[in-house]
Amino acid sequence: MNDAQKDPVCGMTVLPERGLAAPYSDQTIYFCSEYCRNKFLAQPELYLTALVARSFDEAKEHRRMAYFSMEVAVGSSMPTYSGGLGVLAGDTLKSCADLRVPVVGVSLLFRKGYFDQKFDQWGGQQEGPVEWNPAHFLQPLPLTVQVEIEQRTVQVCAWQHNIVGLSGYVVPLILLDTDVAGNADDDRALTDYLYGGDQKYRLAQEIVLGIGGLRMLRALEYSGVEKFHMNEGMPVCSFWNFWKNRKHCHLPSGTSSG
Ligand SMILES: [Zn+2]
Repeated sequence: MNDAQKDPVCGMTVLPERGLAAPYSDQTIYFCSEYCRNKFLAQPELYLTALVARSFDEAKEHRRMAYFSMEVAVGSSMPTYSGGLGVLAGDTLKSCADLRVPVVGVSLLFRKGYFDQKFDQWGGQQEGPVEWNPAHFLQPLPLTVQVEIEQRTVQVCAWQHNIVGLSGYVVPLILLDTDVAGNADDDRALTDYLYGGDQKYRLAQEIVLGIGGLRMLRALEYSGVEKFHMNEGMPVCSFWNFWKNRKHCHLPSGTSSG
C-alpha cells in the first residue's frame, strides 16, 4: 500500500508517487506542489505542528463518537461521495481532526464510485463506473463481520483512511466493503455504487452501513463510543434495535429521518 500523506503547508492529501518530496529530520515530507515545498523549506518550523507524532489520546478506546454517513468526501481522488452530503461529512471529519475531537467515521467503500461523467459529441452526459484502486489510498483491516440480508449471511470487511488534522491528530475513517470471497456475486457488489441500483440495493447498503458498521466498530475495539451521529437518516433504520436499547444514544440536531 502507498500511504496517502498530508502536505503540511496546505493540508492537501498527497500520494507519495505523485507528490514532491523533501527530507526533513528522519522522515520524508510530501507536498502537492513546488510552491508548498519551497514554503516549507524556507520556514519548516512554521509547519512542524502538522508533523508531530501521534499522541496517546488517539487510541481507539478514547474515541467517544462515531459518525456514520452514506458518503464522505475526503479528496477528489477517492470517489466515495456524490455531492453536498459527502462534502459536509468530509469537512466535518476534517474539522474534528483539526480540533482533536475523538471521533471515528464510518461509511461504505464504493469500488465504482457514484459515476464517471463524460460528454458525447452532442454534449449529452455519459455515465460510467469510476476506476480507482482503494489500495492506493486505504489500509485494509484484518477483520470481517457478518450481517443478515434476506436470510443470507453477508461478510463485510473494512478499509481505513486516516484524516490528519493540522496538529497531526488522526481521525480514522472506516469504509465497509462486501467484496469478500465467499459472498454471493450480488452481495459482493453491494458496496460498488453510491446511490446506485434499486430500493432493495439501497436498503441492503443501509443494513451494511448501520448494522455492519456498528459490528465493525465493536470488532475493531472502539469500546468507548458513547454517541452515534447518523448523517441524514440512511443508517437509522438499521440502527433501530441498537438505539431502542440505548437510552443515552440520541440523534443530534441536523439529523433527519430522510
Ligand atoms: Zn500543498
